[in-house]
Amino acid sequence: MNPIGVFASVDAGLGVSWDVIRQIGVPTIQLHAPHRGSRGRDAVARLIAQLAEFQVRLTAVFAGFDGESYADIPTVERTIGLVPKATRAERLQEMFEIADFADQMGCDAVGLHIGVVPHDRRDPDRAGIVEVTQKLCQYCQDHGQFLHLETGQETAEDLIAFISDVGYENLKINFDPANMILYGTGEPLEALRQVAPWVRSVHCKDGKWSDQPGVTWGQEVPLGQGDVNIRAYLETLHEIGYTGPLTIEREIPQDPERQLSEIGDAVRLLEELLQAIHAE
Ligand code: MG
Repeated sequence: MNPIGVFASVDAGLGVSWDVIRQIGVPTIQLHAPHRGSRGRDAVARLIAQLAEFQVRLTAVFAGFDGESYADIPTVERTIGLVPKATRAERLQEMFEIADFADQMGCDAVGLHIGVVPHDRRDPDRAGIVEVTQKLCQYCQDHGQFLHLETGQETAEDLIAFISDVGYENLKINFDPANMILYGTGEPLEALRQVAPWVRSVHCKDGKWSDQPGVTWGQEVPLGQGDVNIRAYLETLHEIGYTGPLTIEREIPQDPERQLSEIGDAVRLLEELLQAIHAE
């Protein structure tokens, strides 16, 4: 059965805080890349020792950048990932550093929201985004690593077209079903079947459709309470042969206690559903 995991943070990002990972009792985590000052040699040694003590395996490191904002959909288009031109070069440099950090942590997967790639293949901005992604894929390839694109800001068709334009074998997908709903970019389970050959990691997150999909945000809700249909999601993952970790992501950092209790509920829900599906 797929190992369960949580999305965690040391000092940056919206994951569960590092000091409660042990309490949650899951065998894997994905980690939001720590701030630059917390990625040094000593920090790496300490994090590796703690994960060994917790008996937790790190399965992916996700990047985030200063200046990114998920305030609303237009702000996402302006600020996220490697798409904004003004910060592209410095963020690529930081991605290399984050890939190095992941490598030192013994982790072969680096993830990010690449940003909102222009849908039209003839758009003059698209070639630069493809090119920067190729540079990053090459860097990861040189270190034996995969680059995982977080889904949601584009349809499945657009994501496949982008991956094919980049043309690197180590370019994969971190599938997040809730993002497809939050951004209004398509029915997640149908999208999952389409992108199945590239899925190398997943988030377990739930959400409700906006009444104006693609214009305003949907709402992120506790796992099992949204429109994803978590049982059908796990069945679809099973059907496409995905055996990797199921990483729970719940982004309510302003309330760590609620986040912790909801993640506990999510772990139990996934365990029950996995047992039921595998018993069939
Ligand atoms: Mg996600």
